[in-house]
Amino acid sequence: METFDVAIVGGGPAGSSCAAFCALAGLDTLVLERENFPREKVCGDCLNPSCWSVLERLGLQQQIRNLPHSKLDSVAFIAIEGHEVVVDLPTGDACEFSVKRSLFDDLLLKRARELGAHVREGTTVTALANGGSWKIQTATAETFSAQTLIGADGRNSTVARLSSLLPQPIRERVALQAHIPLPRDFGRRVVLQFLREGYSGQAPVNETELNLCLVGTPPTISKLRQWAERHFEIAAHQPWRTITPLTRSPVSCAHENLLFIGDAARVVEPFTGEGIYYALRSGELAADAIKKIIRGKDRQLALRDFARASAEMYHGRLWINRLARTAVLSPRIASFLIQAARVQPIFRSLTKRIVVPNF
Ligand SMILES: Cc1cc2nc3c(=O)[nH]c(=O)nc-3n(C[C@H](O)[C@H](O)[C@H](O)COP(=O)(O)OP(=O)(O)OC[C@H]3O[C@@H](n4cnc5c(N)ncnc54)[C@H](O)[C@@H]3O)c2cc1C
Repeated sequence: METFDVAIVGGGPAGSSCAAFCALAGLDTLVLERENFPREKVCGDCLNPSCWSVLERLGLQQQIRNLPHSKLDSVAFIAIEGHEVVVDLPTGDACEFSVKRSLFDDLLLKRARELGAHVREGTTVTALANGGSWKIQTATAETFSAQTLIGADGRNSTVARLSSLLPQPIRERVALQAHIPLPRDFGRRVVLQFLREGYSGQAPVNETELNLCLVGTPPTISKLRQWAERHFEIAAHQPWRTITPLTRSPVSCAHENLLFIGDAARVVEPFTGEGIYYALRSGELAADAIKKIIRGKDRQLALRDFARASAEMYHGRLWINRLARTAVLSPRIASFLIQAARVQPIFRSLTKRIVVPNF
């Protein structure tokens, strides 16, 4: 059986970032990823400017900028009745940037591999046993062993479920996502559009494609899809990706020899487009903690530092995310706010707080 310092379940932004930083530190690192990359994923495909500093430390900033992408210059909030508030986004290097997850995630996972991590794609983790070190079993009956295990396997984390740590999901909403032909004159805006049945996020991801997300409840999602088919003249056979839940209680991120990062630790409201940053940064913080533990520093201290740094990462940002969740759960109230001219400066200042780079 192969034995590693650290095994990471999930090769999304959280897992790849953690694996790359662990490998950079000379740790024997394994990544087990269910899918074969490149693969798409339900996401708005927008990178918050805070991502750039982590990507720089991964040595990937320029390569990401070289991928087919769109630089987004404004965000338009559209009320149910059509009233619009437009807020400018930062320009230059710290801009809001959109790129398809198939390209972005593939580059990150390749970087982890390049730095020395062992990456196993098409490998689903199905069972875990913890007896001081971890035994990890896969759907193809392979077994691996590792000192530390990282749950980086997204909002429906198998690692959390198998460790009896996964909170009961709140199946209140569902998201659909597709890439469709970019409508002419769409511009380089992000559109956040409230509809009676939920909301839609739209952003160009290159010169020819639009990322289209729909968020509703199980009874309303088909109406949202019909709206999108009419509004964007999409064929009824358009394939859509789907995901649920959109809301879930957090999982405590630091355990004895088990850490959770990215969506596996905490799911945030997609409306503000920050999940990828939290995934990348929490991966970096976890790698730092493991490095300290393997080099013989006090384990409890390293775990406490990791938990504190993770909490700090969200500090001052989560309340905006909660506000956004409250707004999107009541599209009528959100629409009323968009129409109330005097609250428009509030939209501007909240947007600025979200897109200010965080180092
Ligand atoms: C509708 C919607 C729109 C969004 N828009 C944005 C946006 O514009 N910008 C933004 O920053 N964030 C956005 N997000 C959030 C963002 O998608 C997530 O926060 C981000 O993907 C989290 O990364 P992660 O690495 O933690 O998890 P994931 O990206 O979910 O990666 C987890 C990986 O684990 C693998 N895996 C799962 N189970 C197993 C298993 N048992 N064995 C092995 N591998 C496994 C999966 O295949 C996957 O590759 C959006 C989310 C939604 C739902």
